[in-house]
Amino acid sequence: MADELTRARTILRDVFGFQEFRPGQEAIIAAVLGGEDVLAVMPTGSGKSLCYQLPAIVGGGLTLVVSPLIALMRDQVAQMRALGVPAASLNSSNEPDENRRTTEALRGRALRLLYAAPERLARNDTTALLREAGCTTVAIDEAHCVSQWGHDFRPEYLALGGLRDAVGARQTVAFTATADAATRADVAAQLFRSRPRLFLGGFDRPNLRLAIRPKAGGKKQVAEYVQQHKGEAGIIYCSSRARTEDFATALAAAGVNALPYHAGLDKSVRDANQDTFVRDDAVVIVATVAFGMGIDKPDVRFVCHADLPKNIESYYQEIGRAGRDGLPADTLTLYGQEDIRLRRMQIDDSQAGDEQKRVEFQRLNALLSLCEAPRCRRQTLLAYFGETTEPCGNCDLCADGVQTFDGTVDAQKLMSAMKRTGERFGSEHVVNIVLGNATDAVKQYGHDKLPTFGVGAARGKNEWRSILRQIHAAGLVSLDVAGYGRWVITPAGREVMGGRAKIDLRADVLTPRERKRKERGVMPTGDADGPLLDRLKQLRRNLASAARVPAYVVFPDRTLIELATHQPKTLAEMSAIHGVGQAKLTRYGAAFLAVITGKES
Ligand code: ADP
Ligand code: ZN
Repeated sequence: MADELTRARTILRDVFGFQEFRPGQEAIIAAVLGGEDVLAVMPTGSGKSLCYQLPAIVGGGLTLVVSPLIALMRDQVAQMRALGVPAASLNSSNEPDENRRTTEALRGRALRLLYAAPERLARNDTTALLREAGCTTVAIDEAHCVSQWGHDFRPEYLALGGLRDAVGARQTVAFTATADAATRADVAAQLFRSRPRLFLGGFDRPNLRLAIRPKAGGKKQVAEYVQQHKGEAGIIYCSSRARTEDFATALAAAGVNALPYHAGLDKSVRDANQDTFVRDDAVVIVATVAFGMGIDKPDVRFVCHADLPKNIESYYQEIGRAGRDGLPADTLTLYGQEDIRLRRMQIDDSQAGDEQKRVEFQRLNALLSLCEAPRCRRQTLLAYFGETTEPCGNCDLCADGVQTFDGTVDAQKLMSAMKRTGERFGSEHVVNIVLGNATDAVKQYGHDKLPTFGVGAARGKNEWRSILRQIHAAGLVSLDVAGYGRWVITPAGREVMGGRAKIDLRADVLTPRERKRKERGVMPTGDADGPLLDRLKQLRRNLASAARVPAYVVFPDRTLIELATHQPKTLAEMSAIHGVGQAKLTRYGAAFLAVITGKES
């Protein structure tokens, strides 16, 4: 066992070219090598794949990787082969010839990793073949797909519980980025006969810069943002198909290499656009949330939400597609009153039952708190996932601070309206009372006679809504969603009502105004020489297109940056660079050295 771990570390360096394990990887790999059943929940980009790839190389048997999407399998196979690891996939989009070669390799026990979709694995001939091939480990990627609770549910995943026995493997190891406790319990119940070893990774992604801003001429904000990220790969999420087309056209007209992606596009166009985005290192894709599931691209440098995401989980999952390689990546989310209204309506109008709606409203409210709470974004975000952290220094609020004002009296006005109406009413009603709007409902209950009626007429409706969200985020009031969304005052709220505590509120989100200052967040290239880095990228592009693989399969961004910074002069020096293992050193070393030393032919 100790020997195997030592070998694992050697392989990490020699094959993958990585110096260290990322947090969590080593413990998971040890459990996999020890033959245990494992369920690992780790955020996107934390390096889940390595946790089954590396044991597959150490272990010597065959690891079957169940993966939901063909594009994902194709990329991983290309990456493994580029590292010199025998890997293949069995799927319907391969040439028959290739599937035949793979079958032979399996019979000859020549493969370490085989990728297949659950549909394929439902076939008896496939499971028989895997038995013959000596399959030792079943690894299930995107394991939340087995759960009815997750949004990516795939019925064919349900059969995977019996797969280990069907192929004669000794263990099942499953991986997901979905944090939700209900989903996690469901995954464990569906996939494992007895309780697996559970690994819960920390959810922080420190390399992601977080920024959230009220809309102020959204289109212009997005265009400026993209200009600040010239030459980088990025994703812009929009709330509708029409808006993706609209933004993509506008950006293309401004000279950006931007492509649209949504479910309404012809499949061939959609696939081609996705492919270009994955392969190239500087394409901007403008997409609905249909885009992203199963995209493994490590070098996405920015994610921008042109419209408010659906909820806090979607937000984190979508921005999580940036910076999977661990290098600095930038995110910006824009939101407006109209977005909030739309998201509320979508939940209300959905077919979901009351319990599900309640959960959905909670998730949306958590996101709105993140938008408007005055403290560090990462603290608010991680608190939702049950983690604590110091102020991060890598979010807009840490960097710029926020302008706050003493909102004690405003908070008292709202809470007084709640209290005097028996804490039995929702947002609209409470805000109408404070504003002095004598709506039918307000008159029907006689609430236009309350002393609180109209005490807040000096502010607008949206301001009061924001104040309500902020005092909610601060924990002064809570929303009793099961009881039709009525507001109740918490003990902390009673402190403020009684004048024993104060509350600061954010001024900037009450009346959104465009900020003039330019955003930072351009990728730091260390001491990397710009022109040299450009030449290295050009070489990477040429090699990648000759081999018909994505640019990052040749080398990730970090490798090129380190090459440009340290400028190794020999193959030996080059082997110390991140991402340079033996196979890639042999294949590409000379070509990159030639560019560095200026001796290209
Ligand atoms: P996940 O599946 O968790 O979203 P991936 O497995 O795609 O993440 O890994 C994200 C990126 O991190 C990949 O480019 C991978 O090569 C890189 N990576 C994984 N482990 C390490 C490590 N120990 N050191 C450096 N880079 C790593
Ligand atoms: Zn912060």
